[in-house]
Amino acid sequence: MKTTRILPLAIAILSSLTLHAGKNHSHEKKVAGPNGGRLLVSIEPHAEFFVTADRKVQITFVDDALKPLAPAGQVVTVTTGERSAPVKMSFAITNNTLLSEQTVPEGNNFPVVVQIKTSPDAKAIVEKFTLNLSNCPDCKHAEYACICSHTH
Ligand SMILES: [Zn+2]
Repeated sequence: MKTTRILPLAIAILSSLTLHAGKNHSHEKKVAGPNGGRLLVSIEPHAEFFVTADRKVQITFVDDALKPLAPAGQVVTVTTGERSAPVKMSFAITNNTLLSEQTVPEGNNFPVVVQIKTSPDAKAIVEKFTLNLSNCPDCKHAEYACICSHTH
């Protein structure tokens, strides 16, 4: 008689523990790219979006250990700047990365649209975010590449 009473209680405790564990697992840890830029994870291999000191955009493809990979025929287009006067960037291979031929205009908090095709005929994978170049006070990355759960 006792076991039939204890069993439902044990199941209830177990299932609440499982639910709790599941909640923790859904919290995905963010990582930065090899240069401290934003990792674009919707594309395989992953790509790092990084703004250089001279305001060019550098796209570095990386393996799962974040080791840089040479570009393999990917076609990248980045559009940023004021919505009224967007800059469309094209890329050339420089030191095994793709470097934009145009620079990010003066200013901050521009919308960014990154389009990456794994080959010229492939469907473009699109990532959109805000290019906030200010440094996050908590993780020291630029806000566009922030890896902490810092909120504004
Ligand atoms: Zn941060």
